[in-house]
This record gives sequence, structure tokens and C-alpha cells, in this order.
Amino acid sequence: MNKLQQAGERIIGAKRILILSHIRPDGDAIGSTLGLGLALQTEGKNVQMVLADGVPKEFHFLTASEQITQQPEGDFDVIVALDCSDMDRLGDVLENLPSPTVNIDHHISNVKFAEINLIDDQAAATAEMLAAYLPQWGLTVDKPVAEALLTGLITDTIGFRTPNVSPKTMRTAANLIEAGANISDLYQKAIIDRSYASVRYWMQGLQSLKMKDGLVWVSLTLEDRQKADYPGNGDADLINLLASIEEADIAVTFIEQEGEATKVSWRAKPGLDVSKVAAQFGGGGHKLAAGATIQGSLADVRERVLEKTDALLKTQE
Ligand code: AMP
Ligand code: MN
Ligand code: MN
Repeated sequence: MNKLQQAGERIIGAKRILILSHIRPDGDAIGSTLGLGLALQTEGKNVQMVLADGVPKEFHFLTASEQITQQPEGDFDVIVALDCSDMDRLGDVLENLPSPTVNIDHHISNVKFAEINLIDDQAAATAEMLAAYLPQWGLTVDKPVAEALLTGLITDTIGFRTPNVSPKTMRTAANLIEAGANISDLYQKAIIDRSYASVRYWMQGLQSLKMKDGLVWVSLTLEDRQKADYPGNGDADLINLLASIEEADIAVTFIEQEGEATKVSWRAKPGLDVSKVAAQFGGGGHKLAAGATIQGSLADVRERVLEKTDALLKTQE
């Protein structure tokens, strides 16, 4: 029996299942959690879906997103981690619980922390992997499941435009549309619609825009967040705007956090690997998209990160 069948047997053989994904959840984390969770509920399983940071407002449009809680309750036969490269990224959700049974992920930096690890770094999203696995495990991809998984696919590929989009990605999307998901509606809700506050936050951040030697960056302070009345603690996807700047090979955002920490996001043009520089700071991710949360003031972290990122650019060019 291969690993995929083993994982299926463990999950389908369980009654009480806990599904987890990473902190600061993105569309793939949320869509994958709901996709697997709802498909298992249809089979009559007792499923808890838990994200340490909850579901941000932008994803409340997904069916059953209100079922996702921030802490597990009780015991489980099987624990599944999705889209998560290491256990720290799950947040503080496993107190008094064992390590995950199954780990399904597409991060190149995945450290294979579970009993059964299904890792495919060629997949464009964890949702793409699940869209293939669910039918093989005998689970039904109905409309809400298809919508959740297609949202994961759309968000992780920023609308099917990352270089890891393959014929398989597009076939998967087509299958999900056939299963009832409305692609234009989900595309609009998941990556086009944004709040006025988030654009005001961009405006604050863009005042700090700098470019030097192929690197472009922006700093977002707690004060910027407050001035814009932006409720999140990320960069409101400003990194994707920076990554569109033609003259730059690597884009970086620095986001000041409470408690002397700075969240850093990197995006690179094809041919580079920013997961390596993220790893130097205790983070991780993919070759072209990586992140880390680093202790230190914004100015201090910015200086250290720019130096290492510049060095990477010089060696990888
Ligand atoms: P972000 O810049 O936060 O959008 O993250 C880009 C990619 O890097 C995503 O695939 C994240 O899952 C991953 N990532 C972000 N932060 C971390 C971290 N601290 N450790 C490992 N992977 C991360
Ligand atoms: Mn993710
Ligand atoms: Mn993902």
C-alpha cells in the first residue's frame, strides 16, 4: 500500500478527525481545511477544523467558514495538518494532543513532521493535491468542497499566474468548475475585492517605497496600520503589487508587529530562490514566495534582511 492509500485508510477509518492549517491563514490554508473537512462531514465524520488565528473576514464568504474554531476540543483518532511546512506554523493548538498523523503540503521547506507525509512541491496549492486525493479516498467533491478547493487554487497561484501553474492545475480547476464552483465569482471574492482600509494601508506603506540593485521594498509600521484603520497584521497583499515592478528581481515587505517583531515577505522573479534567505531567518516557503517572522525592531530587521537578500541576489544572478 502506498502512502496516499495509507493516509486515506487512516482518515476514512477514523471517527473523530482534527484538521489544522497554518497561522496567518491564506486562501489555500482555509480552502484546503474546508475542502477536506466538509467532504468528511458528508461521510458522517465528526470533524473539527481549527486555525489558530481564525478566518479573516475576506474569506467569510466560504460555506461553513464559521465552523472553523481557534482551539480544538476533546480527543481525536486522526489529526491532519494541511499547507503547513512545520509544526510551529500550526500555532498553539496541539497542547495535550499528539503530533499530526497526516501532513499534506506543497512547501519545498516541509520538514515531514507527521506519521504519514504527503508532500508534493510541484503542486501549485495544497488544494490541488486534495482535489486529486479526495476522489481517490472515495470522498465526494460537492459544490461547497469545490468552491473551497478552487479558492485555494486561485489564491496560491494569484489567479493562475505563478510559474508552478501546470496543465494539472488547469484540469483540476476545470474539474472543480464542473463540480459546481463559479470561477469568476470566486476569483472576484478571493483576490480582487479588497476593503477601503486595506488600500489606505497600501497608501501609507507606499510612502516608504524604495528600490536598489534589483531589490524593491516597503515598510509598514503599527502607526500606518492605525492611521489606515486596517484590522489585519499582514501586508494586505501589498507584496503582490511590489512584485509587479518590472525593474526589481526581488520584492520585500516589512510589517512591524506588536512585541518587537517584524513579519517579512519575499517574492522573487523565476530563477531565484528566496526560501533560502527566509530559512536563514527561521522562516520558509517556496522558491518564489517566502516569509518569516523575525524578532527585532523594524529598522533592525530591515537592515539585516536587506543585506542577506542582496547577497542572495548577487550569488544567484
Ligand atoms: P507570505 O509572505 O506570508 O505570504 O508567505 C509566503 C510563503 O512562505 C507562504 O507559502 C507561506 O506559507 C510561507 N511562509 C511564510 N512565513 C513562513 C514562516 N515563518 N515559516 C515557514 N514558511 C513561511
Ligand atoms: Mn498557505
Ligand atoms: Mn499553499
